Amino acid sequence: MQWEVVIGMETHVQLSTQSKIFSGAPTAFGADPNTQACPVDLALPGVLPVMNRGAVERAIQFGLAVGANIAPLSVFARKNYFYPDLPKGYQISQYEKPVVEGGKLTFLFEKNGKPELHSVALTRAHLEEDAGKSLHENFQDLTGIDLNRAGTPLLEIVTEPDMRSAAEAVAYARALHALVVWLGICDGNMQEGSFRCDANVSVRPVGQKELGTRCEIKNLNSFRFLEDAINHEVRRQIELIEDGGAVVQATRLYDPDKKETREMRTKEDAHDYRYFPDPDLPPLVITAEMIEREKAKMSELPDAMRTRFVRDYGLSEYDASVLTQSKDMAAYFEALVAQTGKDQAKQSANWLMGDVSSMLNREAVEIKAAPVSAAQLAVLLKRIADNTISNKIAKDVFAMMWENKSDDVNSADAIIEAKGLKQISDTGELEKIIDEVLAANQKSVEEFRSGKEKAFNALVGQAMKATKGKGNPAQVNELLRKKLS
Ligand code: ADP
Ligand code: MG
Repeated sequence: MQWEVVIGMETHVQLSTQSKIFSGAPTAFGADPNTQACPVDLALPGVLPVMNRGAVERAIQFGLAVGANIAPLSVFARKNYFYPDLPKGYQISQYEKPVVEGGKLTFLFEKNGKPELHSVALTRAHLEEDAGKSLHENFQDLTGIDLNRAGTPLLEIVTEPDMRSAAEAVAYARALHALVVWLGICDGNMQEGSFRCDANVSVRPVGQKELGTRCEIKNLNSFRFLEDAINHEVRRQIELIEDGGAVVQATRLYDPDKKETREMRTKEDAHDYRYFPDPDLPPLVITAEMIEREKAKMSELPDAMRTRFVRDYGLSEYDASVLTQSKDMAAYFEALVAQTGKDQAKQSANWLMGDVSSMLNREAVEIKAAPVSAAQLAVLLKRIADNTISNKIAKDVFAMMWENKSDDVNSADAIIEAKGLKQISDTGELEKIIDEVLAANQKSVEEFRSGKEKAFNALVGQAMKATKGKGNPAQVNELLRKKLS
């Protein structure tokens, strides 16, 4: 039997407001337990929630960014359940009328071996408060409750069950993460719980229309865990069904150490939560003016920037997507091309995605903190363009620039000068070297003359080596051909 995997994602994005969604208590991470929970968060008798405008503004910005409908009127509802970290006995969320409806997220995803633009449809995004946290490690045989997180503003973003593999779900999650960070509505810190994914997973025989029974894997806070957890869950479900069993709808937790999911609770249905509109909060009304105000605050979106990069700089869709994954990378690219000119745009993109990115990865630094500025890199690329150095030597110069951490805009020139790396373009000098190489490599010369084109490349290699890599490659090629013919 061939199986098809079906995945829908629910992502909790912590909104970057300074205070909580319904109280004035701070949201800063890492404070001592229970020092950032005010009477509203503690649900003391008589307290009332007050909507945080900043959270609404961020939800509007998200809706605009994914082309969704922003509800002119949405409603807060109480989701009732008991848990020690939820002192009210209910979570304030949105149920029937969420603030954001529909929309889609577009990102680069590899299909049939090559990366293509791909969209995942969003169902909705709603505002809600986070719960507190149980601390099992701090006390022996006891569990502590930290209510600092209680009331932290969340935007829960829900997709249609449209994804068909763990890889696709991860690509979606990465793109969503990049977008909310780009918008500045979330700090994106996954270790601190600012971006958590729940993956709903089911399988069905290929060709079957109706969806299989799903399990929901909760609270995946790394892309790695997300991928592993889904792959594991898919295998578990297929094995279960093939052994004659059936999947039971349940909420499961992923254990990254054991690399397995285990059942947390069999899934409750919506009616178990006894949702009803929260009488303490009036409906959330969003006017056209509020939407216009948020639109005006927003800078260019990644989608628009990608399209512009393709149009204005002649980049491929792929290059443009990679460069617009973060605002800082895009800004670096534009600063670079502003100096090198548009005819070096493709080369600039290659350098950013190649040497610069691998350095950033190796040293785990952000592009903002790169020791080689866009202006410095521009000088280096100009030296390739005007034949002062070859592309190969430029890579070495770049590595030295990175090491030196100099502020000098002309650091590339300084290194080329100091290390004597200037390309040899003097015909006389090159000819002398080539004569020596031909004399020393008679075998290759004969092979070439008997029709072996490969021998020519070997001779070019020898000649470049004799110039210590400094020979102008085009000239070396030309002179060699002339001498051999
Ligand atoms: P709940 O709110 O109970 O978690 P929803 O119906 O709102 O359930 O769906 C939550 C998520 O699960 C959505 O992303 C949806 O696309 C996804 N989903 C629903 N049914 C399936 C299924 N059979 N297989 C995989 N994902 C599913
Ligand atoms: Mg759910």
